[in-house]
Amino acid sequence: MNIYKNVSLKQFSYWRVGGCADFVFVVNSISELKDALDYLYKLELPFLIIGNTSNLLFSGAGVRGGLIKLGPGFSYCDFKHQVVTVGAGIYLPYFVRQCVNNGLSGLEHLIGVPATLGGAVYMNAGSQRKSLSENILSVDSIDKKGNLITRRESDCSFSYRNSIFQLNSEFILSAKIKLQSKSISLIRRECLTILRSRNKKFPRKKPSCGSVFISNPVMYDTYGPPGKIIEDVGLKGFKIGGASISSQHANFIVNEGDATDIDILSLIAIAIEKVKNQTGFQLKSEAKYVTEDCRLMNADAAALALIN
Ligand SMILES: Cc1cc2nc3c(=O)[nH]c(=O)nc-3n(C[C@H](O)[C@H](O)[C@H](O)COP(=O)(O)OP(=O)(O)OC[C@H]3O[C@@H](n4cnc5c(N)ncnc54)[C@H](O)[C@@H]3O)c2cc1C
Repeated sequence: MNIYKNVSLKQFSYWRVGGCADFVFVVNSISELKDALDYLYKLELPFLIIGNTSNLLFSGAGVRGGLIKLGPGFSYCDFKHQVVTVGAGIYLPYFVRQCVNNGLSGLEHLIGVPATLGGAVYMNAGSQRKSLSENILSVDSIDKKGNLITRRESDCSFSYRNSIFQLNSEFILSAKIKLQSKSISLIRRECLTILRSRNKKFPRKKPSCGSVFISNPVMYDTYGPPGKIIEDVGLKGFKIGGASISSQHANFIVNEGDATDIDILSLIAIAIEKVKNQTGFQLKSEAKYVTEDCRLMNADAAALALIN
């Protein structure tokens, strides 16, 4: 196990925002994970498991606790015909490329999502109107007492950008995924088409957490997706401090270089208020906020708490 102290979240996190985390543990096995938990229990510090932090906004005051990250020991994929057992620490775009190389189709829509498999299961990540859960057979996790649990897909309460793991604070260890055989060149072409379209639509060069707000079907039918609505209320390109609502895609908030958590939360709060006033719909965030005391909140709740 590697233990890092006083880790700058501004340098470490995907959005490049945040103070210092007291501890970051990188664990490579279940026993190392248990050791990290023992260490934190002894110090009476709270903890949070993280993936690639591509959906997380960290407090500018840092985190008084321990962040636990799955290391290379959890970054494996074992292919058996059309079923693959995959570790929760694997980087998703790398995993999708391994599926392509094995002539297995089903996860192409995830090729551009900079997540770990664990974070993607937790969020039930997806794109192109597909979700990871459509290919999941089962998920293995461990609870805080060290009990190992295997859940079939139907017991994971998957829904749009949600799963049972957002309620039970278990650590996702691995998943079994089913795929379909297809010609490698066809899958590769599909991945390239998806990547090209994402590269055109989404800001790539500035740090972000992807889409900040989730789509709501009724709102979608009336006004369109969140990005279009935020653009329609005049916020595209709107800037506070070092953060701005992307001028390329208004559902992205980008770090222009020195954004703080407060800049980003303020933009989220303004978008929620303006959209609510003009449409009656309350935007909900996909992004999560990590507080100084290591609690996880939806970023919309953190943003509204800031202004109220
Ligand atoms: C440029 C960009 C594009 C994006 N595009 C998409 C997209 O197309 N579709 C989409 O769905 N998302 C997208 N996202 C958002 C993000 O990648 C997803 O939400 C992803 O699932 C987060 O995974 P992560 O590994 O980064 O998790 P993190 O952001 O580190 O964590 C997210 C949550 O998962 C929990 N978690 C992480 N690992 C585990 C584990 N092993 N066990 C239990 N809980 C865990 C964390 O505690 C946290 O609550 C995008 C983000 C960026 C930056």
